[in-house]
Amino acid sequence: MKYAIPLPPTYALAIANNDEFFPVNRVFCVGRNYAAHAREMGKDPDREPPFFFMKPACAVVQAGEKEITIPYPPMTSNFHHEIELVVTIGKAGKDIPIEKALEYVHGYAVGLDMTRRDLQLDARDKGRPWEFGKSFAGSAPIGPIHIAKQIGHLSTATISLTVNDQPRQSSDIAKLIWSVAESISYLSSYETLEPGDIIMTGTPEGVGAVMPGDVMQGHIDTLGDIVVRVAK
Ligand code: MN
Repeated sequence: MKYAIPLPPTYALAIANNDEFFPVNRVFCVGRNYAAHAREMGKDPDREPPFFFMKPACAVVQAGEKEITIPYPPMTSNFHHEIELVVTIGKAGKDIPIEKALEYVHGYAVGLDMTRRDLQLDARDKGRPWEFGKSFAGSAPIGPIHIAKQIGHLSTATISLTVNDQPRQSSDIAKLIWSVAESISYLSSYETLEPGDIIMTGTPEGVGAVMPGDVMQGHIDTLGDIVVRVAK
C-alpha cells in the first residue's frame, strides 16, 4: 500500500526483564474508581456503573525508575497528578465474563493520568467532553509493564505518589470500586477489546497540582516506581 503521507508513529511501552515492547492501541481510563477520590471530586461514591474516557496512544510516555521530564502543558494553570494502576490487554475479546476477564490481561504497570483539571472541570460543568482536560499528548507517563504470567494478578497492593518527596496520594488497589476483572468485562460489552489496548483503572484520593520543576514519584507494590519531573 502506498500512503499519501508518512505513517504515524507506533507508541510502545517497555516490558520489564524483556527486550520486547508493547505497542499501544487505545487507552481507556476509568473515572472515579476509588470512593474517597469520588468524594473529593464532589461526587457520590455509590457504586454506579463505571464510566470511561479515552486518551490517544500519543498520550503514552515511557517512564521508569530513571527520571524523565514532561512539559508543563499549555492552556492550563491547574495541572494535576493522578497515580493509577495500568492494565495492558493481550488478546481480543468482547462480552467477556468477569470470571474470564483476567485471561485478557497481558500485564500491569504504574502510570499517571495527568490532567488539566481546570479544563476538565469547566468541560464537566458545561456538559462538554473532557478531551482538552484529559486527552492531550504526553498525558500518560507509564512505567515498564510487568507480565501477568510472571508476577500473577494484583488484588491488593499499596499505590502511592509523592511530590518533591512529600506524600500526596496513598491507598491500596484493593479499594478499587470496580476491580480490574469487572472493568474489563464491563468495557468489553461496549467495545471489542484488542491487543495493545490499555486500561488506566482510576486514581485514589489526594490528587493535586504540580508546578514547573516538581518531581513526582509514583509507586505500586510489585510494579516498582516511576519518577517524572515537570519541566521548568
Ligand atoms: Mn484518572
